[in-house]
Amino acid sequence: MPTHPALSDSPRPSPPDSPLRIAIIGGGIAGLSLLLGLLAHTSRSHLQPHLYEAAPAFAEIGAGVAFGSNSIAAMRLLDPAIASAYERHATFHADPDARRRKVWSGYRMGMDGRARGRGRGSGGEESGNRLKAGDFIHEVRSETERSSVHRARFLDAMVELVPEGYASFGKRVVEVRERVGGDGELEVRFADGSMVYADAVVGCDGVKSRVRQIVLAGEPEMEPVFTGKYAYRGLIPMEEAVEALGEWTAKNAHFHWGYDGHVLTFPIEHGNTMNVVAFRTKKDGEWEYGSQWVLSGNKERMLSDYEGWGKEVQSILRMMRSPDIWALFDHLPAKTYYKGRICLLGDSAHASTPHQGAGAGMAIEDAFVLSRLLARIKDKRQLERAFSAYDTVRRPRTQKLKEGVGDDVEALKKDLDGRMRWVWDADLEEHVGEALKTFDG
Ligand SMILES: Cc1cc2nc3c(=O)[nH]c(=O)nc-3n(C[C@H](O)[C@H](O)[C@H](O)COP(=O)(O)OP(=O)(O)OC[C@H]3O[C@@H](n4cnc5c(N)ncnc54)[C@H](O)[C@@H]3O)c2cc1C
Repeated sequence: MPTHPALSDSPRPSPPDSPLRIAIIGGGIAGLSLLLGLLAHTSRSHLQPHLYEAAPAFAEIGAGVAFGSNSIAAMRLLDPAIASAYERHATFHADPDARRRKVWSGYRMGMDGRARGRGRGSGGEESGNRLKAGDFIHEVRSETERSSVHRARFLDAMVELVPEGYASFGKRVVEVRERVGGDGELEVRFADGSMVYADAVVGCDGVKSRVRQIVLAGEPEMEPVFTGKYAYRGLIPMEEAVEALGEWTAKNAHFHWGYDGHVLTFPIEHGNTMNVVAFRTKKDGEWEYGSQWVLSGNKERMLSDYEGWGKEVQSILRMMRSPDIWALFDHLPAKTYYKGRICLLGDSAHASTPHQGAGAGMAIEDAFVLSRLLARIKDKRQLERAFSAYDTVRRPRTQKLKEGVGDDVEALKKDLDGRMRWVWDADLEEHVGEALKTFDG
C-alpha cells in the first residue's frame, strides 16, 4: 500500500463543516480495527481517518491468537467483512463431537503435583496436589465453537480491506500537543521530523505506547511494568505434533499446568500447525534486558527451564521451532483513557497478561464502541465528550482482565469457569447503547 500525504501538514483555518481529521497511531489489530470501523460507519465528508505506523509496513508475528465469542461478535458489529476475513483464516476445533468443539480449553497437569501441601484441609486430610503429569484437572466450555488464528494471516486479511491512501508508514510518533491558538487542533510530530495536524488522536501504539505517556504524563501508570513472567512462543508442524502427542492433544486447546509456569497449545492455520506458548515465572521478578523485550530463542535454556516437567510437555518443547522469549509487561490501571482530544485504545490503554487470551478481543471491542461514538458527533467540540463516554464504559470492562491465579490447582479449578464467562457473554449492542446514552446525556 503506498504512503499518502495524509492529514494536512499545515495548520488550516478549519471551517465548522469540514471533515474531522482523526489520526490513528499504530497499525496493529487495534489501529486497523478502528480504521476499518470508521471507514464502515462514517462518511468521508464527516470524518477523515488516517493511520500512522512506525514500521515500514503492516506486520504481525507468526504466532497464534485465540478469540472468544465476544471478539467475533465485535468483529461482526464493527464490519462484517472483518468477521468474514477472520472466519476464512480461523481454525475451529477438530473434535468430531460438536459439543466438545465448544471446549475453550482442557486443563491438565504438566508435571507431578506436590503431594505435600501447605497445611491440612478442613477434614484434617493432608492438603496438596496428588495429581500426576497428564492427569485431567478441568475443562472450560463456551457457548460457541472455539477458534483461533495465525496472527499474521488475520492482520494481512484486515489490511486487504483498507482502501489505498489511508495509512502512512515509517511514521513513529514522538509528540502530540495542542497547537497554540489552534482552537483545539493537535500537532502530531514524528521521529523523521515531519508533522501533521489533526482534530483528534487515537493512540493504538501498543504496550510501549508513546501516546499513553502523553495522556498520563507524570502518573505512575504511564509506563508498562514487568509482570515477573516471560513466555517461549513457537510453532510445530501438526503432523509431527499428532505423531508425538496423538490427535486429541495436538488438535485441541490445552493448558499443561505446573509450578511457576504453564504451557498452552492450540491449533492454527486450518489445523496444520500447533501453536505453543510456554510461560515461566522469573524467580527474582526482574527483567534484566532493559528495553529488549523479545530475545531470540535458546532451546537449551528452555529445556532446562522445564526440567522435571512431564513427558508430554518435554516432548512439546523439543518439537518447537525457534522459540523466541517474550518478556510479559502490562499496565497498572490507568485513571483515564483520554486527555482532551487524545485517546487510548487497545494495549496502549490496557495491556494485560495474556492469561485470559482476551487482549486483542478487547481492542476490537474498543474500536467498535469508539467508532460508533465518533459516528455520532456533529462537530469537533463534541470530540472530548465522545472520548469521555468511551472512557466511562470501556475502562471498567477492560480493567477487569485478571492476572493468572498462580500455581494452586484447587484455586485454579474454582476460578476457571467464572474468569472467562463475563468476557464472552457481554451484550455488545447494550454496551455501545450505554456509551451512546452517556454521550447524549
Ligand atoms: C504471549 C501472548 C499471547 C497472547 N494471546 C492472546 C490471545 O490468545 N487472545 C487475545 O485476544 N489476545 C492475546 N494476547 C494479547 C494481544 O496480543 C494484544 O492485546 C494485542 O495484540 C494488542 O494489539 P494492539 O494493536 O493494541 O497493539 P500492538 O499489536 O502492539 O500494535 C501496536 C502497533 O503500534 C505501532 N507503534 C508503536 N509505537 C508507535 C509510535 N510511537 N508511532 C507509530 N506507531 C507505533 C507498532 O509498530 C505496532 O504496529 C496475547 C499477548 C501475548 C504477549
